[in-house]
Amino acid sequence: MHQVYFVKLISLVVLLIYLETIQSLPLQEKRYLEVYGFASDISDEKQFREAVSNFQSHYHLKVTGKLDDPTTSLFSTPRCGNADKRKPNSRQRKKKYSLDGSKWQKVHLTYRILRYSSKLSRHQVERSFKMAFNQWQSTSILRFKRVTTKADIEIQFRTGDHGDNHPFDDVVLAHSYFPRFGGAVHMNDAKNWVTGRTKGDQVNLYQVALHELGHVMGLEHSDVADAIMQP
Ligand SMILES: [Zn+2]
Ligand SMILES: [Zn+2]
Repeated sequence: MHQVYFVKLISLVVLLIYLETIQSLPLQEKRYLEVYGFASDISDEKQFREAVSNFQSHYHLKVTGKLDDPTTSLFSTPRCGNADKRKPNSRQRKKKYSLDGSKWQKVHLTYRILRYSSKLSRHQVERSFKMAFNQWQSTSILRFKRVTTKADIEIQFRTGDHGDNHPFDDVVLAHSYFPRFGGAVHMNDAKNWVTGRTKGDQVNLYQVALHELGHVMGLEHSDVADAIMQP
């Protein structure tokens, strides 16, 4: 009788220790590392440290495996919502984030601005995207035309949860889909979009549009500082 009780007690202690380990992982950072491809599924401290190390090495920070100041400050820097690394886990392959860039099967592509920003005029939004498309047009064989009917590339300003399983949070500026996933562009309309110089929390629409259209062309993130495709 006593023995059974003892075994039960030990099991309970082990379970509590296990739960404590899971709960002590910082949730927001855990989610960030999983979403952006630095680990596929973090369940313990060791995996968490490995993922933090991957993140630090990817961003050329000192690799400590710990949430030190430079690391935590990078976690809260506004960025593109697309992943930095392809997830090693094949279970997750279906997600757009884990796939390589793919190519359009045609040269002449249309785009439509389906939902405009609440922060800018229609004209400002159209002009910024036109500039960004022109930039990619000048360095590729692709040709873009804005239409007001269904298009190859559909651009929308949305907020929070917007129906594609990738809700916007405070950090994400925008995300977009590779050609094989339809080439859509979603801009976070909770952000303070501007067309000129930025100050404070303002974000330049053209700069982000240029980056997002890179994904639409099939490009992945680059870890080179100041590159257009840096997240
Ligand atoms: Zn991106
Ligand atoms: Zn979206």
